[in-house]
This record gives sequence, structure tokens and C-alpha cells, in this order.
Amino acid sequence: MEATSKRLELTDMLSKLLSKAGEDTEMLVYLVQGKIAPDYEGIELGMSEKLIAKALVSITSMDEKEIARMMARSGDMGTVSQEVIAERVQSTLEKQDITVKRVFNALTEIAQTSGEGSVTKKLALYKDLVLNGTPVEAKYITRIITGKMRLGVSDATIITALVAAFSYEGDPAEIENAYNCHPDMGYIAGLLRKGLTDKIREASPQPLVPVKVMLAERLTSVDEILEKLGGTCAAEYKYDGLRTQIHFDGKTVKIFSRGTEETTSNFPDIVRAFTETFHCKSCILDGESVPYNPETGELYPFQMVSQRRGRKYDLEGKLHEIPIVVFLFDILYLDGSSLLAVPYPERRKKLESLFTENDHFKPATRIVSSNAHEIMEFFERSISDGCEGIVAKSVGADSYYRAGARGWQWIKFKRDYQKELSDSLDLVVLGAFSGHGRRKGTYGALLMGVYDHRRDIFETVCKLGTGFTDDVLFNLPKILADYRSPNKPNNVNSILEPDVWFYPSIVLEVRGAEITVSPVHTCAFSSVVSGSGLSLRFPRFTGNFRKDKKGDQCTTTEEVLSMFNNQKKKGA
Ligand code: ATP
Repeated sequence: MEATSKRLELTDMLSKLLSKAGEDTEMLVYLVQGKIAPDYEGIELGMSEKLIAKALVSITSMDEKEIARMMARSGDMGTVSQEVIAERVQSTLEKQDITVKRVFNALTEIAQTSGEGSVTKKLALYKDLVLNGTPVEAKYITRIITGKMRLGVSDATIITALVAAFSYEGDPAEIENAYNCHPDMGYIAGLLRKGLTDKIREASPQPLVPVKVMLAERLTSVDEILEKLGGTCAAEYKYDGLRTQIHFDGKTVKIFSRGTEETTSNFPDIVRAFTETFHCKSCILDGESVPYNPETGELYPFQMVSQRRGRKYDLEGKLHEIPIVVFLFDILYLDGSSLLAVPYPERRKKLESLFTENDHFKPATRIVSSNAHEIMEFFERSISDGCEGIVAKSVGADSYYRAGARGWQWIKFKRDYQKELSDSLDLVVLGAFSGHGRRKGTYGALLMGVYDHRRDIFETVCKLGTGFTDDVLFNLPKILADYRSPNKPNNVNSILEPDVWFYPSIVLEVRGAEITVSPVHTCAFSSVVSGSGLSLRFPRFTGNFRKDKKGDQCTTTEEVLSMFNNQKKKGA
């Protein structure tokens, strides 16, 4: 799988593997993505390359310097362990078979081991695996343990492979939908293996399991928005904070981020306030957390919220400095029933009747209107109240909550930055060009990309060299070091050849002047002009690393194409 750059071939190999896997299926879908549980469980295997080097030293007669030299040469601890096991271990041990189950169980034990003596125990578990395995097995076990599996197997690829492996006769979109409601690929694979297709079709949210968030399309005029939404819409303030999904199962409150990561521990104040505010049996709420001043009601910039993420100490102290209010705009589940298929106006009514607003929870400010002038005034008001603009929402009979989908039911409309694109793009770093002159020792420009969902591939859209502070600029090689790939990753499509390749992982917010046609970029290649792609002109880094987005959550090819088409309309 690692050797192929053809998506079809990769999917084919994976589906053949899964069709023969029997009870190992669930474990295999995790392992090919280098994990042992769904992302939202936040399980870290937690063994650094340094620790692996130590393990390799202890099973050979090599010293740490030699391992470090091998590492410098290949840049991949997996390859180092493969070479070490093949050439340097004289084992008298009679090898036992390394089964999927055995590897999976050992990895789980490594993840669960903590406290005193845990390093020794982890090392012993790792050594036991690699000494019993073949050199190739050692390579991939090491990569999984150090969090660097990177076979380019995306969720979409696994879904396609599962459809083929289990001859799923329904619409593959049903599986995608089930996954969006319950983003655990092992769970989905298990349903298919056991033939529980009803459960796939009827998939619905479950409190304490994050639901993939619904996303918005974008337009650049209120008239177009009204036309798209059938003449009437609900315009809500677009708060500039952190997407916050709150779950309650009757006992426990959990909070998840836009990327289904659990962030409960960052919001002890919200958790406390939740039980005082809400008195339902169970629910799932959707909203945006914003730092604010309870005295004046003034909203503060988003950056003040991000200080809370990953903050391990003095969190309670910080809470008094930056109180948070969650502006709730949706409800996905209430007292045992899914509300995904209930139209938005009814969901909003249920949400409003569920609580009395206070300093911690408020309903998102909104109007329902068919009047472009009135909506424009509301938009201006949102800006002067410290918001980014509005999100216009459909009030139609089919205004369901579409988990994980970006559709025309929600349309964002942001402040127009004169002569600039009205919206920023979130681009993923695919490569880098070495710097010269003043930039010697760091990168001169980064090769940035977007994601094509349909083909499950990353495409290039610009070279980015502006907008970096000196501090960030000279730290770029360090910031990106962990994501270096020895060659072009198999899910990247590029005409340009940068000096360094990266696995598509790090997302940067970028502004630009316009989208133009370009023969050297592969974004939407040949969709507008034969033999050319689309590119972002005069790109500039805004300074915002989108840590809440994974590589494949960057701006999509379809979005760039629709920005290009909107621009054309405006020009005309
Ligand atoms: P996206 O989430 O669409 O990929 P993004 O993360 O860059 O893009 P924006 O383009 O700024 O975010 O807009 C969408 C985000 O706006 C939502 O994900 C949500 O976090 C936020 N938001 C703020 N207010 C609302 C609201 N009233 N309704 C829906 N989303 C809102």
C-alpha cells in the first residue's frame, strides 16, 4: 500500500485485505491508519523516537550514536528498526507468530501503561513485538507506535474499501452518513462485518460520541443568499470562537471540538454551568465558545480562547481572567431521540425552550427575514458587535442537520476585505522550497494545497512565502520536521517539485487577492481551462495555524472552484 500512488490500486489492496480479515477487520482498519481507537478517545501510544532508539540499543550491541546516524540518514525510525532487526540482532529466541490481535493488544497495553515503571514496561512490550516479528513487521509496528504510519489511507478510502470487501448493496453514502454520526471506523467496520446493515442505515447520534459538525458554504452577496435559500432565511451572528459540541448522557458532560477531539478538560466552568442550566435527560448541543466580558457583554478575539487549549496548569486561574460564553445555535439530540431529521426551525424552538440564558449560555442572536436590506443591517450590527458576519440558514422543510456535510443549507457571509477575497482559505502544507539570501537555513516558500474529496487527493494551489513573522519563519523547519516525507506522499498530486515534501497534516490560514488560472498548479486541473489548474494570487499567511483542523479538513478543491466562479460572476 505504501508503494502505490494510485488510489484505485490502494483501495483494491485494502478491500482484498479486509475481505479476508474476519474478526481482525476492526483492528485492521485502525492499524492501517496508525491508531488503535477512534480519534475522539484521544489515545496516545506515547513512545518517542528517542525511546525506540533506546530499545534498539538494548537489543543489539550498537550504541545510541550509531542509531542516531542511521536515523539522520533515513529520517524514519521505522526503516531504522527494520535495518536493525534484519542485520544487527542475533537472536537465539524461537520466534512466535505476530498476529494482528497480538500486536493490537500489545499496543493497547502500551497506551494504557502509565505512572511509575511505565517506561520500562513499554520498552519491554515493544521489544517483545519487534524481536518476534520480521524486519518489515518491525518497521510498521515502530511507525504506528511513534505516530508515523502515514500510508495515506484516509477515511474515504477505508469506506470505499469496506463497501467492496463486504459487498455492501446499499448506497455508499449511507456508510458515510453512519460514520459522520458515529466517527469510529472500527465500529462501522464491525457493523458491516456482522451484516448489521440496518444499523448502518438507521445510524443516529449517541451522547458522548461526537457527531461530525455541519459546515457552511459561502456566498458574497445577500441577494444570492436569499435566492439560494428560497427567499427567506434565518440570519445568525457568526461568532469568532471555537466550535463547541456539548454532550450530556444524564450523568456525564463532555465537550468536543470541530475536529471531534475531546476538549472537556479545557472548559471546567462550562461543564459546571451546564448542569445548573440544563435539566433534560440527555442532549447534544452545537455552538460557538467566545471569550467575553460579562460586565459589558463585549466579545473578545478568538486568540484568547485558544490560550485555553492544551493548557495544563493554572486553568482555573485563567478562567477568571477570560470567562467564556457558549452561543448555542443547534440541538442534535434530546432525551433519547435524534433530531437530525427535524427541520431547523423546530430544532431552534426546542433549543430555546430548553434553557434560560445566563452568563455561560446564550442562544445565537438571529433574525428570520426575507428582506435583503434588513439582513444587511443585521450583518452590519453583527460586525459592530464583534462578530465576523452572519451564517444564513435555511428554514425550509428539508433543513435537516447534515452531520459532516458542507451544503447550501448554511451559508456564511463575511465582511468584505476590499480588493481581497472575502474569505480566507485554510491550506495544507505539502512541501517547501529552500530559502536563499536572508532566508538561508529556513524555507523560502511553502507549497500549499487543497483537498479533492471526490478523488481523495491533495492538489497544489500556491507557493506561500509572505506573512510570516521572523520568529515563525526561522522556526518553520522545526515546526514541520515531524511531518517530513522522504518522497512525494502517494496522495499528493503536484507538478512542482519542492526541495522537501510533507505529509499533508499542517493547516495554515491564508488570504489572497483572487483565484486565477495557472498551468503549474493542480487544483481543479483542467476543470476551467484544459491543461491548467487554479491558483491563489498574492497569498499571505494570516499568522493563524489552524490547529483545530486535520490535513483533510483544509479548504477543498470544490470550494476554490466555486470561489473562482463567484469571482467571475462579480466581474461580469
Ligand atoms: P469551516 O468550519 O466552514 O470549514 P472555518 O473553520 O474556517 O470553516 P469559518 O469559515 O469562519 O470557519 O465559518 C464556519 C464556522 O463558523 C463554524 O464551523 C462555526 O465554528 C462558526 N460559527 C459561528 N457562529 C455560527 C453560527 N451561528 N452557526 C454556525 N456556525 C457558526
